[in-house]
Amino acid sequence: MKGYVDKDLCVGCGMCTGACPDGFRMGEDGLAEGWQDLPDSSIDDARQAAEDCPVGAITVK
Ligand code: SF4
Repeated sequence: MKGYVDKDLCVGCGMCTGACPDGFRMGEDGLAEGWQDLPDSSIDDARQAAEDCPVGAITVK
């Protein structure tokens, strides 16, 4: 599984990178991005970040 960020929606708040650093990082454009396959131990954190993202930019699949 992996986290995906719709950069057309992301506002760069950084929440997801703090909540799930194994799944999300900030890109050079100042917007978040999914960057690796999620370790099993981080899948719940990624799903929570998807729920909590203020603009609904995250998909985990
Ligand atoms: S929580 Fe949502 S809006 Fe904030 S940086 Fe992550 S993807 Fe972007």
